[in-house]
Amino acid sequence: MAKKTEKDQQCSGDCNSCASSQGNSTPASSLPERSKATIKHVILVLSGKGGVGKSTVSVNLSYALANQGYYVGLLDLDMHGPNIPKMLGIENARLQYMGDKIEPVHITGNLSTISMAFLLPDRDTPIIWRGPMKMAAIRQFLDDVNWGPLDFLVVDLPPGTGDEALTIAQIAPNVRGAVVVTTPQEVATLDSRKAVKFIEKMGIPVLGIIENMSGMICPHCGKEIDLFGSGGGKRAAEELKVPFLGAIPIDPEMRKAGDEGHPFIIRRGEKNQTWESVDQVMEALVRVIEG
Ligand code: ADP
Repeated sequence: MAKKTEKDQQCSGDCNSCASSQGNSTPASSLPERSKATIKHVILVLSGKGGVGKSTVSVNLSYALANQGYYVGLLDLDMHGPNIPKMLGIENARLQYMGDKIEPVHITGNLSTISMAFLLPDRDTPIIWRGPMKMAAIRQFLDDVNWGPLDFLVVDLPPGTGDEALTIAQIAPNVRGAVVVTTPQEVATLDSRKAVKFIEKMGIPVLGIIENMSGMICPHCGKEIDLFGSGGGKRAAEELKVPFLGAIPIDPEMRKAGDEGHPFIIRRGEKNQTWESVDQVMEALVRVIEG
């Protein structure tokens, strides 16, 4: 058999055909069928880098949509670092089976979630899986979970454009679009551009870019400190010609909300700039999603 030349191995830029050529293709006949009927819209949340606030955005967006009366599922596909249960304060929840279906963990009457973390014996156990196992798990999370009729399934992805992002982009039904979260500094926005290009190559609408950790509100004086800078996400959105959904500052209250399992959007406290920016970003995102 002829050895592949370097030219043969070059990326064509077509993720769909590339995955097919490596035996990872998903024939239409094996697409998750059940979820097509039960999930109206899938929304992907991506980032180029880790730690930029993707899970934070996923959790707050899920609540924002649920607060509008929609039925929402939150699927934690960050298999190697599943933090959604911690951020929702349901770390000790475990999955139950109802017949041949997995019951998601219900957070409110119209918000439920699934995470790999619910399947692990304890929080220190790592997932050591190759691509095909992840692909099988993603398929199960779509089709074998008793999501019930959902208006939206928000999918929190791991950073980058690896197996999980490629699989969900290829097999999820009714993908409404994807949102990219970035922090303002160049090392992050550079990677967020790759995430945007990936979404476009997959033929998925880019709902927009959110700039998180944009400036910092000093907990002592309440004024803004330019910690990671600001404006990088906005510039990237302008250059890539995709919507800019707004900026959220660094605020210790945001970090506390995550650590204490009580999402920022439902925390009651003194209204400040962070409150307003989270509200504005979520409203902008919900508007784009509602189309
Ligand atoms: P990712 O999902 O991209 O890895 P996370 O959402 O887990 O990022 O956020 C990383 C950490 O930063 C978490 O501890 C989270 O609570 C915190 N965080 C996220 N956004 C902010 C913010 N705007 N201000 C302060 N802390 C934040």
